[in-house]
Amino acid sequence: MPLLNSYDIIFAGGGTAACIIAGRLAQADPSLKILIIEAGSHSLNLHHHVQPARYLNNLVQGHTFTHHNSVPSEALGGRSVCVPSGCCVGGGSAVNFMMYTRAPSSDYDDWEKLGNPGWGSGSLIPLAKKVETYQVPAGSPSVHGFTGPIKVSHGGRDTNIGKEFLETAAQYDKDRKTSPSADTNDFQTINVYGPWHKYIDSRTGKRSDTAHHFIYNLQNFNLEPSDSSNLHVLTNRRVVKVLFRNNCAIGVEYAAREDFNGKSPSQPPRIAYASRLVVISSGAFGSPAILERSGIGAARHVAEANVQQIVDLPGVGENYNDHNFCLSSYLASEDSDCLDGIFSGDEEAIKPHLKEWQEKGSGLLAHNSIDAGVKLRPTSEELEELGPSFRQVWKDVYVGAPDKPVAILCPIAGDLKNAGALTPSKLKTFGMAFYTTYPQAIGYSHITSGTNPWAPLRFDPRYLVDPADIAVLRWCYKRGRELARRMRSFRGEIPAAQPDFRPSPLISDVSIGTSQSVVNESTASVNPTASGPVPIDAPKIVYSKEDDRAIDDYIKATVGTTWHSLGTCAMKPRAAGGVVDSQLNVYGVENLKVADLSIVPLNVGANTNNTALVVGEKAFLLITEDLGISLESEQISKFGIRSLDI
Ligand SMILES: Cc1cc2nc3c(=O)[nH]c(=O)nc-3n(C[C@H](O)[C@H](O)[C@H](O)COP(=O)(O)OP(=O)(O)OC[C@H]3O[C@@H](n4cnc5c(N)ncnc54)[C@H](O)[C@@H]3O)c2cc1C
Repeated sequence: MPLLNSYDIIFAGGGTAACIIAGRLAQADPSLKILIIEAGSHSLNLHHHVQPARYLNNLVQGHTFTHHNSVPSEALGGRSVCVPSGCCVGGGSAVNFMMYTRAPSSDYDDWEKLGNPGWGSGSLIPLAKKVETYQVPAGSPSVHGFTGPIKVSHGGRDTNIGKEFLETAAQYDKDRKTSPSADTNDFQTINVYGPWHKYIDSRTGKRSDTAHHFIYNLQNFNLEPSDSSNLHVLTNRRVVKVLFRNNCAIGVEYAAREDFNGKSPSQPPRIAYASRLVVISSGAFGSPAILERSGIGAARHVAEANVQQIVDLPGVGENYNDHNFCLSSYLASEDSDCLDGIFSGDEEAIKPHLKEWQEKGSGLLAHNSIDAGVKLRPTSEELEELGPSFRQVWKDVYVGAPDKPVAILCPIAGDLKNAGALTPSKLKTFGMAFYTTYPQAIGYSHITSGTNPWAPLRFDPRYLVDPADIAVLRWCYKRGRELARRMRSFRGEIPAAQPDFRPSPLISDVSIGTSQSVVNESTASVNPTASGPVPIDAPKIVYSKEDDRAIDDYIKATVGTTWHSLGTCAMKPRAAGGVVDSQLNVYGVENLKVADLSIVPLNVGANTNNTALVVGEKAFLLITEDLGISLESEQISKFGIRSLDI
């Protein structure tokens, strides 16, 4: 295998952002020798990656993920949470749910205000356009791109669940607009119920990820490193640490799993040299871990792992952000377009959809179960409902930024929670998924071993430590439930995926002067079977204090990751806890950049793949500038791309 001893640029990690940067660099300057070292395997044309609807079963199977288990949390009743991140070429973009949502422009402007020139919305929105081909009819050229590698479409089919959600919202929620043609991803729109699109190519029905659209389609690219390509990808290897000479990065040490049969490596380190640049792009968990193993981080954390510190950067591994995800589930009518069967991974259930997907790129296999949604901001009445714990957060985060949503709510055409486990009984289900966009919880992730990149991390996302985060989820649960029970296909609430509303405790009826007791039946009780929806104008469910407690208990027992980890190598001034500067250079050393979602300094109010694409595009420009590579746009768009309709 002609793996070289030395490259111009080495990428530690081959995920979402890395594939964009490396693929574009390989095209922009064919004389560059580039190496990507990726912890996972290749994803080229594997059906669990490219057939969109298989994403959930893939998540349940777990092979293409790294699982990060948190320390037990008091706020979650002693529970530990597991946060998986993508582990394959393409990273998160090759395994995610393909939901296309974009951050509000004020998020990027906030980054710039922190002292990061060139990272405001004026600079980044053009890159969000550059990366995409928006296949949705009537997309506005002021906010969408039509020639980029990543395809965005509505997927292979409309589900009735998505349609009914929009119809119900139009009739029920008079405080907000609904439009089946709204563009809720124009960097501004909030409080509009609209269709939600997907990273799916409408022509092929395949997932549109960065591995296939920036790496695998390069002319002469081979899965095995070969002389014919200037870009080599080494899979199933983890970067242990960066190597330095006089604080200048000169390469990396990497390892294979089998090198770690015991606690310490069983063979001498494997080394690859980089003459011009090392780019760490291992995501919000992997990137700070590589820095800490390299001796860059807080004295305490590197010392605890027996690593000698070379740069004191206390921000490494801090500022961990995610969104807090919850779900409630409902039974759907038999004729609903639900993905439960496909989610279960049962090939018999998948078979009926395969032919249409292969021949036309359409149908439920070219789908992610999510057709519609809303970015929610509370009305003044709802602000009251959110209560005192949310008041200060509202002032600090939202008042000055009218484009920021407080939460995202969307219906799921299938049982996300049980991954189709109810399917053997032929039940059809739908869910209401909701997550807080700017949770107050900020966590951390640090290494426990200085030598073993497979060792577990010491990690705490700190979900729900702030009561404001519970208040938002409680509000979302109630809103989602009112919409769900009005949808035409509603057939009941699944008790296991709802709060445990109990009748109020027995109360002594002193008024009649006896010790007789009465049971105060909760009006919020779960309705497990229904012949159909309640009328649109049915009264809202009234929740007692006990009911609110039951919702909070449900949230604490079930809240989990939205798989949106970011922020652990934040791009901020060094004095403010920053790890990289606005050119993505790691403070205190040379020839070392970080480029992935770990550099995001403040959370974004959307699913994060779009921001990872933008960070990748921006990092590519910064690197070409540093290396003096000229960018003639014609060369970039036409050089060395082959069709991937394999
Ligand atoms: C299950 C799931 C569902 C999601 N759903 C959506 C969605 O629907 N919409 C959306 O917008 N976003 C979604 N996301 C989030 C989005 O995909 C991620 O935010 C984004 O892909 C992160 O990009 P990144 O480049 O920062 O890191 P990644 O894409 O995670 O790349 C990091 C790469 O580095 C590798 N790596 C780690 N450590 C090492 C090491 N030591 N050496 C070598 N390689 C290493 C990893 O294997 C990985 O491939 C989802 C994510 C997941 C996991």
